[in-house]
Amino acid sequence: LTKETLANIQVTDEDLQAFVRMHADEALAKARAVDEKGDFSNLLAGIPMAIKDNIATNGLETTGASHILSGFKPVYDATVTTKLNDSGAVIVGKANMDEFAMGGSTETSYYKKTKNAWDHTKVPGGSSGGSAAAVAAGQVPYALGSDTGGSIRQPAAFNGLVGMKPTYGRVSRFGLFAMASSLDQIGPLTRTVKDNAFVLNAISGFDKKDSTSVELEVPDFAEKIGQDIKGMKIAVPEEYFQEGISVEVATQVKAAIAQLEDLGATVDTVSLPHTQYGVAAYYILMSSEASSNLQRYDGIRYGFRAPDAKSLEEVYKNTRTAGFGDEVKRRIMLGTYSLSAGAYDAFFKKAAQIRTLIIEDFNQVFADYDLIVGPTTPTQPYGIGEEIGDPKTMYLGDVLTIPVNLAGLPGLSINAGFNGGMPVGLQLIGKPFDEATLYQVAYAFE
Ligand code: GLN
Repeated sequence: LTKETLANIQVTDEDLQAFVRMHADEALAKARAVDEKGDFSNLLAGIPMAIKDNIATNGLETTGASHILSGFKPVYDATVTTKLNDSGAVIVGKANMDEFAMGGSTETSYYKKTKNAWDHTKVPGGSSGGSAAAVAAGQVPYALGSDTGGSIRQPAAFNGLVGMKPTYGRVSRFGLFAMASSLDQIGPLTRTVKDNAFVLNAISGFDKKDSTSVELEVPDFAEKIGQDIKGMKIAVPEEYFQEGISVEVATQVKAAIAQLEDLGATVDTVSLPHTQYGVAAYYILMSSEASSNLQRYDGIRYGFRAPDAKSLEEVYKNTRTAGFGDEVKRRIMLGTYSLSAGAYDAFFKKAAQIRTLIIEDFNQVFADYDLIVGPTTPTQPYGIGEEIGDPKTMYLGDVLTIPVNLAGLPGLSINAGFNGGMPVGLQLIGKPFDEATLYQVAYAFE
């Protein structure tokens, strides 16, 4: 299986460009070791998969799709990497992504542009665009991504997949290259709901190496799959269908919601009144955290160092000038400014207050409802090169996914069907640590 997978990727990835690099020898060695052991009781044993390029793999180059980390080989495994290895998973290579997960189209990668699996003129979404394209094109049955403001759910929506952003604290962030530490989570992208639940089972759980991982027992995420959803109380936020949402997306998502009613769920319209402030608050908070997290890339410790530096200051300056792309620099500047003494009250503090209001919006709805349903993205995939020159339009594309990260909730995107030949994503938002209910409802569509 691993041999076939590698051979197929070699052919198909010439065009798709989902992988930044392959780890063929290591994958074959792992597959052989699993064969020799002969224990296939774990569902992931011997199954090839792709991992996003911001998740550390011991001894194997991991770059976050940034030039500044080119050549960097971590000396440790991320906790999810360890868990995959222990499950017998076969990591075939690193999936392409936006540089340091900053973007929504995988076009900010230093290395290459990945294509949408359904239409090679369109973006695969992002930042986990390589992970999504690889799964949707059938190169691998599953991949891991990371989601700070939508980076698992949006590419899942753009490629017709199942993509889970788990509750904050569910999956260890140890070894995930930090973008915004209070928002980042790792999660699976798969073609089916069951696969997704199985992979989440394998990577979840408390980790003493991540102080924000939660000491809670991990249930079997597949335990409610197959149970009917009669009587379930589902909320649809009116703000998720307002301006900016395309007719195609709205039509498809409303049809999916009608299906939930046919299956016996009660569906009501509700309000999440602070939704409109989410994008602004996120871009302040995320940039602030990212600007701090990215200070470590100084040309001394990891990867690339500018060859022309004549002083220590030039090592920092020239390395960061040449090593970071435009989008990363934009966020470092925005974040550094928001955190500066003169701007803190007007920007960072305000954004943090809005975050609390958004959390309260969700709490109010979840007092009466089991889950929230709406579109994952305002539009369907757009053309490669079409929006990347306009950061503000790109940022607005995250309006429906960002609130979930700000509130730390689990969010699942599944396919709501196709419109005009391209997929539309349906987003299910759950109560904290209630991923099992999201899978239960998602499975009702399969
Ligand atoms: N598109 C969003 C951004 O650019 C989300 C990124 C992410 O979740 N990593 O910040």
